[in-house]
Amino acid sequence: MQASEKQLDLVICGGGIAGLAAGYVAKKRHPEWKIAILEKNHRLGGWIRTEKVDGFLFELGPRSLRSDPSVEALVAELGLPVVSPMQTKRYLYREGKLGQVRHTPSLFLKALWTNLWAEKGVGEESVYAFAKRRFGQEVADLVFDPLTVGVYAGNSRELSAQSSFPSFTHRDGHLLSLLLKRPKTSLYTFAEGMESLVKALENRLKNELIADCEVLERSPERLLTTQGSFRADRVWDARPPAGPKASVITVSVGYKNPVLPVEGFGHLTPSHEKNDLLGVVYDSSVFPQQNKRGETRLTVMLGGTIRPDLIHQTEAQLEAIALKGLREQLGITATPDAMLCHKAWHAIPQFYVGAPSPKRGVSVNEAIKWALNQGIETRGTAE
Ligand SMILES: Cc1cc2nc3c(=O)[nH]c(=O)nc-3n(C[C@H](O)[C@H](O)[C@H](O)COP(=O)(O)OP(=O)(O)OC[C@H]3O[C@@H](n4cnc5c(N)ncnc54)[C@H](O)[C@@H]3O)c2cc1C
Repeated sequence: MQASEKQLDLVICGGGIAGLAAGYVAKKRHPEWKIAILEKNHRLGGWIRTEKVDGFLFELGPRSLRSDPSVEALVAELGLPVVSPMQTKRYLYREGKLGQVRHTPSLFLKALWTNLWAEKGVGEESVYAFAKRRFGQEVADLVFDPLTVGVYAGNSRELSAQSSFPSFTHRDGHLLSLLLKRPKTSLYTFAEGMESLVKALENRLKNELIADCEVLERSPERLLTTQGSFRADRVWDARPPAGPKASVITVSVGYKNPVLPVEGFGHLTPSHEKNDLLGVVYDSSVFPQQNKRGETRLTVMLGGTIRPDLIHQTEAQLEAIALKGLREQLGITATPDAMLCHKAWHAIPQFYVGAPSPKRGVSVNEAIKWALNQGIETRGTAE
């Protein structure tokens, strides 16, 4: 061992929500362990980032979590008060019109009929091919394609159904009811935004966190970093997985007055329309508990693999595209009182047909569940 090498029980690479949650779980289960969480950036939390601009609360990354007992137990332990959505109506913007997504009885019956006669799938399928074979083109166009845009900022004709939505492809029997009925799982966030979760974990891990420390090389028990080398009995890797990722842009827009013509969660645009906007989240309508004075807060999503060209535009150009989209799609002509453009380069993993199966899915819940499982490991390396 070199003189300057630090010897630890556990090193966690990456201080996103997965790494922080893993550090918290490890410290709780093994208070005797010497632990270090190495994060290459100055700030922790990875993609989770909440900003206040002139009193408007803007989420630059994830804005909510889906209810899940194990994750909620961790949130409760941290003593974080949660807020529930007040509006859940979802819309589609297609062929120049905004329409509410309605799972009508006729759509349900058509899907049921197609499902009865559906041929067995052969091998891995794209999300679109899977949905079309099982439920018909309408469900593929109105349900699965926008879902793929919303979750992956990706193309339903290119991403693998099995890797991108394993809970759908595995749960054959219940799939139809799962799809066409109102989902039972609900969303939640925190009064002061998603970053509250990061701050709560950071506060409990003050002695374990090492920021501005990039892992350069890694062998099973030794790490070379920009702050020297570390040797550990266990290394848990909470860095983003290798593989292709979509870059997305969020333009957060705030108005002091109510300007939104509809109430709801937001709207998406189908991928084949190649619209400038992937969709818009109506933040002030979904979580009005985060409003300070009856304002409107919106997040315009741009880019992804649907419009990969947009990430190269300047922030001013992207803000102009977002405002034009809001005018065309929601009829909002008012001048915003606050705006913030954020480019998330290589942010969302894309599980293409033919690629190896991913180790975990793309969500804050999946990251936390990965962390909860690491606590069960006692020695060695976890990916
Ligand atoms: C715009 C956007 C909106 C999203 N919306 C939602 C949503 O509404 N709901 C939802 O559930 N999910 C959403 N997601 C996905 C969600 O944010 C991610 O799945 C989740 O945050 C991943 O957490 P993580 O800790 O696994 O990875 P990351 O957040 O990527 O954290 C990994 C950390 O590792 C660090 N790191 C990387 N390399 C090194 C190195 N060599 N050495 C040291 N550190 C390193 C990084 O700097 C980073 O801090 C969204 C993502 C984006 C980009």
